[in-house]
Amino acid sequence: MLMDTYGRVATDLRVSLTDRCNLRCTYCMPEEGLQWLGKSDLLSDDEIVRLIRIAVTDLGITEVRFTGGEPLLRPGLVGIVEECAALEPRPRMSLTTNGIGLRRTAGALKDAGLDRVNVSLDTLRPEVFQTLTRRKRHQDVLDGLDAARAAGLTPVKVNSVLMPGLNDDEAPELLAWAVEHDYELRFIEQMPLDAQHGWKRDGMITAGDILASLRTRFNLSPEGEDARGSAPAERWLVDGGPARVGVIASVTRPFCRACDRTRLTADGQVRTCLFAREETDLRELLRSDAPDAEIAKQWKLAMWGKKAGSGLDDPSFLQPDRPMSAIGG
Ligand code: SAM
Ligand code: SF4
Repeated sequence: MLMDTYGRVATDLRVSLTDRCNLRCTYCMPEEGLQWLGKSDLLSDDEIVRLIRIAVTDLGITEVRFTGGEPLLRPGLVGIVEECAALEPRPRMSLTTNGIGLRRTAGALKDAGLDRVNVSLDTLRPEVFQTLTRRKRHQDVLDGLDAARAAGLTPVKVNSVLMPGLNDDEAPELLAWAVEHDYELRFIEQMPLDAQHGWKRDGMITAGDILASLRTRFNLSPEGEDARGSAPAERWLVDGGPARVGVIASVTRPFCRACDRTRLTADGQVRTCLFAREETDLRELLRSDAPDAEIAKQWKLAMWGKKAGSGLDDPSFLQPDRPMSAIGG
């Protein structure tokens, strides 16, 4: 098991498949992009599958989420999903994507064994989308969402980040649209993980702001802690249900004490937390022919050192060197 000194057990693995992206969301990346990892720095498809196999068969991982950067840019994605679906015990698998290209790949991903997707969409207004992501691809995302639902990658969840002065008035509109299309909407508080270090606590839209805005149009009743489990989102029933809305309040209502995650970057580093400042290199072990048992041991050791919380509330908090897109969001 991947246990830490606070008794938490990690069963949910987030795997970043690439640090590259075809959007430039303002809260994530600068317009010019970033210094991307070189090809030889990236884990190969076989190396990724081997690490996931070790995680699933030796370390108690039951959930695998593929992310990035933009995971649909990884040419071997469908094959990786297929190989992971053949593992015993079979992990549940999901994908966090910006949705561009999902129209073409949703069916193949479902056939390969993917269970679900989370698609990121912050606005229903094409011109605001262009300002937020610096690309004219709004319709591609909507098409990707449709395709995901049609392919049965359900429940389809939609992730939205609200940015002051851009889309912070859109929460009720987004929820009405999500309910109508049978997507489960989750708002994510903006976190200090942008490459440009532009995040400001007093400028961000908080969970409190989001809920107040939603309540101008909807009746929200809490789903309760039991239903939440270790999920980062607090969820509310919309107008009595069954539709639900979630808020991931990593900044104002952190949920670190129930965290069940471990993370793997596209270059093979284990991270215990999005906000961790240390990493453990598994790529070097893989490439020096270390046996599975040694890799599993180093992964366990890394997780044993997981900190109690993100440290966001600590005055000495320092943003990690890697931005969200290079960690895997
Ligand atoms: N490119 C894919 C996507 O956008 O869904 C996967 C990677 S992205 C880093 C994963 C999630 O992180 C997205 O939902 C995105 O909106 C969110 N995200 C990125 N930067 C963020 C930030 N600074 N604060 C909060 N959420 C952020
Ligand atoms: Fe790309 Fe996702 Fe970052 Fe947007 S949030 S720039 S889609 S990695």
